[in-house]
Amino acid sequence: MSNKWESNPEIQRFRDYLRIPTVQPNINYVECIEFLKKQADELNLPIELHYPYDETKPIAVITWEGADPSLPSIVLNSHMDVVPVYENLWTHQPFAAEMDENGNIFARGAQDMKSVGMQYLGAIKRLQDKGVRLKRTFHVIYVPDEEIGGDKGMRLFVKTEAFRRLNVGFALDEGIASPDEVFPVFYAERSVWRVDFICHGTTGHGSLLLENTAGEKMRHILDNMMDFRAEQVEILKNNPEFSIGDVTTVNLTILHGGVQSNVVPSSLTALFDCRLAVDVDHDAFEGKLRTWSEQAGGDIEVNFVQKRPKIQPTCIDNNNPFWKAFRETLVDDLHLKIKPLVFPGRTDSCYIREVGIPALGFSPLSNTPVLLHDNDEYVSADTYLTGISIYTKLIEKIGNI
Ligand code: ZN
Repeated sequence: MSNKWESNPEIQRFRDYLRIPTVQPNINYVECIEFLKKQADELNLPIELHYPYDETKPIAVITWEGADPSLPSIVLNSHMDVVPVYENLWTHQPFAAEMDENGNIFARGAQDMKSVGMQYLGAIKRLQDKGVRLKRTFHVIYVPDEEIGGDKGMRLFVKTEAFRRLNVGFALDEGIASPDEVFPVFYAERSVWRVDFICHGTTGHGSLLLENTAGEKMRHILDNMMDFRAEQVEILKNNPEFSIGDVTTVNLTILHGGVQSNVVPSSLTALFDCRLAVDVDHDAFEGKLRTWSEQAGGDIEVNFVQKRPKIQPTCIDNNNPFWKAFRETLVDDLHLKIKPLVFPGRTDSCYIREVGIPALGFSPLSNTPVLLHDNDEYVSADTYLTGISIYTKLIEKIGNI
């Protein structure tokens, strides 16, 4: 089917990128890197590859040098990988980037976040075509494995000498599409903690009433964790201005233990996924978990499968010149609506902020149903192209700070 977007080179670039199946798990990034090299070539920009983990986990950095390279640079970050699909639940091939008659482009990664990765380049191309030379250097970074935690990608890269040499002053990274005209802008993330409670207790025959059983201890842990969860549900309900990122979430995700139905088990284990709100005192929260374990009868191991540190939110007032430029571009110049939020999940921005660099999560996809990780993920061609216009203004403004 042919339509007015079919021959647009930016739409073609986007669809070509979507057709590279960088889908978890065990991704071979070779084809993707070759594609990015070709894009850099066409834009006449140098591309550098880094391997902070090993050669299977490449990081590509395309650089557009500014007129004053001594100024701190700006990172435009995106991840190359996408999450798996339930192909039978899609009405389009998930890696064919099919476009319907309305210009809706369907593919895994259309929203999260191959659109953003290519929109950065589209914006740079437009500025190059206008003959614009910005003061600051831009590094467009493509990282692997964000969807599985970024441990072999951005998490390592920000700690390398190669990254330090980029002299980064500010970063843009992914946000989330918005079903209406308001663009969410993410300035912080909660800290992910995964806590395993292993309750040890008296074992014996299931016909008795033994003391200090694992089951009784587990009941205390569950009661306390779920009561805390209920408090957070109330806080969220009673504060209409709050979103999920403003409260601490607690969810029981794995339960196991026991060997036979008539044997009282020597241990039972419960794993909770916790996301600590940005204002939570981490020591106090851990103290609470340990107190509950003591009150439950002791002999409970509290193991942290994951325990992310407290990370400073990015400043969103006029003391941060990058925020000021961001807000002025979107609100004053483009008359768009924005809403600063704490990101509900985790992105690679957490590693960027962790090394002290301000970062904003933003995907210019308004009036788009939120379909990241969902079936029939799509972006309309018009939305995609409008996003390039937004980035063009934004990059021009931020690049001249
Ligand atoms: Zn993403």
